[in-house]
Amino acid sequence: MSETILEIDDLTVSFDGFKALNHLKFKMNKGELRVIIGPNGAGKTTFLDVITGKVQPTEGNVFFKGKNLRKISEHQIARMGIGRKFQTPRVYLNLTVKENLDLVANKTKNVFSTLFNKPTEQDKRKVASLLETIGLTAKATFKASLLSHGEKQRLEIGMLVAQSPDLLLVDEPVAGLTDEETENVGNLLLALAESHSIIVIEHDMEFVRQIAKQVTVLHQGTVLCEGTMNEIQNDPRVIEVYLGQETSLERDEIIIVRIVATIAWADFNLTPEEQDIIISNLSKQFADSPEDELQLKDELINFLGEKIPLNDLVPLLQTEEEKLKVLQLSNQIINNHSINELENQVYQELLELLNLPPEILSNQ
Ligand code: ADP
Ligand code: MG
Repeated sequence: MSETILEIDDLTVSFDGFKALNHLKFKMNKGELRVIIGPNGAGKTTFLDVITGKVQPTEGNVFFKGKNLRKISEHQIARMGIGRKFQTPRVYLNLTVKENLDLVANKTKNVFSTLFNKPTEQDKRKVASLLETIGLTAKATFKASLLSHGEKQRLEIGMLVAQSPDLLLVDEPVAGLTDEETENVGNLLLALAESHSIIVIEHDMEFVRQIAKQVTVLHQGTVLCEGTMNEIQNDPRVIEVYLGQETSLERDEIIIVRIVATIAWADFNLTPEEQDIIISNLSKQFADSPEDELQLKDELINFLGEKIPLNDLVPLLQTEEEKLKVLQLSNQIINNHSINELENQVYQELLELLNLPPEILSNQ
């Protein structure tokens, strides 16, 4: 029998009547690495806030290792073994990497005693092994201010682990990181997952695919579904939530249309005529019959107003053929308009994300 580390029972959090979490149920086993995704406003941060005691539930309960956390202070909850990593790194920039770790590995936990008392052999071994785990042994004597953003994220994850929490909560650890740094953080979390229970909240789908075994999708304050990344990506409810309301398009077509629309709407500045031309064009491309085309046109007008970041959409493309289609349609749009700086920037971002071989690009 696997042991439950966290169980959330019928949890509701209201802010002035607005339910940020709405009768949410959640359960996680000890040793699990769980990724939580969901569109903006789904309630992800509030979910972490309730677990850490920063926000009190309006209804329902959170059980950690079988204990009800209701009325327990944030500070006490941390001492019970829940560690949280916030989105922006909170490391001491004027201390070295090693000193940052010493500070938390040491039981005495204050800057003065860390700097002037000798650490025990056990503390030394712990810090050395942590430096190894977070891949910063070579930079142990560097001031933290000299680290890259990704290295700071890893250091802070290391500082969290130094406190030996039973459950680690990590909020959007790769926001703003380069691809290489993202992969490093992913590998670090995977390594830690071998001996820790971890909840990661994340937006970046490619990263989620790198690390996720079990994914929970939040939507409007409640659990929409749970499963492997594959199951999640093919769940019609998830596609609907992420990609907008249902249309007569197939899943791959929705993604393509979404991306092309993002390119077309890059600067929010289309005349109604331009908008009409683009929607007519797209409807023509994807409709099977003239009736279809009219229906699709209506659907697309509603559906394309809301923007989804390209880096969420492009990783959902599954084949090179789909990528080529995106490129071809985007090029049509780009070629039919005089494009400005911002549009060009978004287009370049698309090219980068598509990551197609150069010979294909030069043939376009
Ligand atoms: P996510 O992290 O998934 O983007 P949040 O948990 O931050 O979502 O927010 C969920 C919803 O609750 C949002 O609509 C947000 O505006 C609202 N919300 C969050 N915190 C507060 C608050 N302190 N007061 C009022 N509304 C809030
Ligand atoms: Mg959030």
